[in-house]
Amino acid sequence: MKRAIIIGAGPSGLACAIRLRKNNLDVTVLEKNETCCKKLLLTGNGRCNLGNEDQDISHYHSTNNDILENYFEDKEKYLEEFYEDLGVLLKNKNGYLYPNSNQAKTVCDALISKAKELGVRIINNQNVVEVTRVDGIFKVKTNDNNYESEFLIVATGGLAAPKTGSTGDGYTFAKNFKHNIRKLSPGLVQIECDGYYLKDWAGIRTDAAVKLYVDDKLTKVDVGEIQLTNDGISGIVTMQISSLFNYYESDNKKIFINFLPMFEDLRELRQYLLRQGNLSIRQLLHNMLNSKLANVILDYTHINSNLKISEIKNLDVLLNNLINFEVKPIKTKDYDYAQITIGGVSLEELNKNFESKFVNNLYFIGEVLDINGDCGGYNLSICFISALKAGESC
Ligand SMILES: Cc1cc2nc3c(=O)[nH]c(=O)nc-3n(C[C@H](O)[C@H](O)[C@H](O)COP(=O)(O)OP(=O)(O)OC[C@H]3O[C@@H](n4cnc5c(N)ncnc54)[C@H](O)[C@@H]3O)c2cc1C
Repeated sequence: MKRAIIIGAGPSGLACAIRLRKNNLDVTVLEKNETCCKKLLLTGNGRCNLGNEDQDISHYHSTNNDILENYFEDKEKYLEEFYEDLGVLLKNKNGYLYPNSNQAKTVCDALISKAKELGVRIINNQNVVEVTRVDGIFKVKTNDNNYESEFLIVATGGLAAPKTGSTGDGYTFAKNFKHNIRKLSPGLVQIECDGYYLKDWAGIRTDAAVKLYVDDKLTKVDVGEIQLTNDGISGIVTMQISSLFNYYESDNKKIFINFLPMFEDLRELRQYLLRQGNLSIRQLLHNMLNSKLANVILDYTHINSNLKISEIKNLDVLLNNLINFEVKPIKTKDYDYAQITIGGVSLEELNKNFESKFVNNLYFIGEVLDINGDCGGYNLSICFISALKAGESC
């Protein structure tokens, strides 16, 4: 029986192990931690958003977006097969898929027990330190043992949340086999900003539209809940734009927030405000926004808030601060806070089944790849799609 070694017992490694047993391979998963799936347990605030009904390719990204679609052919079929095999009852919440238990632990336990039941050998406390290939056999050296196999699957994760075990080892293994790594950066992460008002808006959660401009070109807009913090911005909308924020090298990046996303432009907002003309500006803003945020905007606009709207000369400044508030981004937070890694093993050097074009029987799956997804279950979907395609191909 041919042997397969998988490095990493995260969601991609275990999903692949389960699929490989269908091919009747002898499967060993080597995991450096004492336990499996440490990162998976953190997902979706412990509830694990493991997929999404909307499988439009626009939710997936890569440095090489042009060829991405080739790798995701029939993605719906692979995801369905995975959910069926996993045997966990799922629920659909506005298109987002969760285990009905609301516990990431359910998914983690199901992956481990399914793999074990099928005869997969999971060996914990095995930190893989070196991988070579001699005469068609992979030689895998760990902190205390040596293993050999005909197939090798690298499922080590990337660099995000390093305390869960993903410390970038997969990139080193890939480079040893002459693969290129596309520029790495933290993704789905908070953005640190500069501004005297940050301490005043800390703790506010509100709906907003956030726009990212790179070199004065509108690059991404996202609408949803934003969290305002004492060192910048957070929440799902921020996370969605953070991945592109890091992707672009330019020093000219600007972020604008529309705190009243129901108004599309200044004209519409001005008309609304003028209709409420009898109220003071203070009252007006407090009627429209979180009160702390209303105070921040009034203070930032340097306006006499007792005036009525019709008495204000620089009304456009106020309107702009309401729907085009410019924050000064400094940088995103680092990998400790990131959900994913942007960049990774270059797709051009892998065939459609995630097998190396340089070394037969060598595969890369999951977060180690140069593919990233939006918030909403797309990153775990990447794990499952790549794991099943690689598993099928071995
Ligand atoms: C806080 C948080 C919330 C998230 N929420 C969601 C969500 O709701 N939905 C979603 O789709 N995605 C979410 N993600 C992203 C998702 O968790 C990752 O995309 C996914 O875990 C990547 O899976 P993986 O198997 O590729 O890598 P990992 O989960 O990182 O697993 C890799 C495994 O390999 C092991 N390993 C690494 N190097 C070695 C080595 N040298 N030897 C042996 N073992 C090794 C590691 O210890 C680890 O167990 C979230 C991430 C975080 C941090």
